[in-house]
Amino acid sequence: LQERVPIGVHHDEITDLGLMFNDLMDNVERSFKQQKQFVEDASHELKTPLTIIHGHLSLIKRWGKEDPKVLERSIGLSLKEVDRLINLVAELLELSRAEENQEVIRESVNPNEVIDRVLENFKLIHRDFEIRTQYHGVEQVFIEMPSRYLEQILLIALDNAVKYSNKEKIIEVNTVTEDTFFSIEIKDYGIGIPKQDLPFVLNRFYRVDKARSRKSGGSGLGLSIAKRLVENYGGKIILTSSEAKWTNFTIQLPIKTRKA
Ligand code: ADP
Repeated sequence: LQERVPIGVHHDEITDLGLMFNDLMDNVERSFKQQKQFVEDASHELKTPLTIIHGHLSLIKRWGKEDPKVLERSIGLSLKEVDRLINLVAELLELSRAEENQEVIRESVNPNEVIDRVLENFKLIHRDFEIRTQYHGVEQVFIEMPSRYLEQILLIALDNAVKYSNKEKIIEVNTVTEDTFFSIEIKDYGIGIPKQDLPFVLNRFYRVDKARSRKSGGSGLGLSIAKRLVENYGGKIILTSSEAKWTNFTIQLPIKTRKA
């Protein structure tokens, strides 16, 4: 991959072709490096639970027959790690599917209806949280995205709002209809994200506090899945935060049609 076409001083078609070839090779090399990094990161994430399970199985083998307490505890902890592995593999598959963006499924949805449905279920599960909603804009809008993807993105943001919450258990959900974009803002008043980490949290496997994320079952893939899905449909995610105060997760999606 190191080979590049030497570019001479004269400008002609061959030089142009050479430049194009070199450009292409740069892209191929970058893509290989990213792939390699991804495989390394994923292997590392898979290895941790496997090492823990291995440790518990060794304990069971040694002490399990004599000590039912060891047996009980190690089986319980191993099961937890197996659940983590199942989740991780499911999320890796989701990310891989989202990254295959050639096949973007077209479906129009009314985002307000999806939000209402998601929040209704969410409130049942998280009764200790107060959800405040504000929908701005009188028109009905439609965006182009399968509703299950929008549901998934909302759940990723809402789950994070819960996982990284503090004493103040309030989540605000606002929607804003602009000229060409429809925005959904999900704001929590939790631990926030330090300024230096903010540019990276949308990256695969990036976590501010690995221990906290792990404890709450996090894989560090949620936000990268959300980002990829939103970008596949021409939108973007904007994350802002003030450490120890609040985090605001905004999803912007292009409006397809609107009705007054
Ligand atoms: P995880 O599975 O770790 O939650 P995500 O990709 O969803 O993975 O998030 C990446 C990291 O971004 C989290 O580990 C956490 O450090 C940070 N983060 C995400 N959402 C929030 C939030 N609402 N408040 C504070 N930190 C957050």
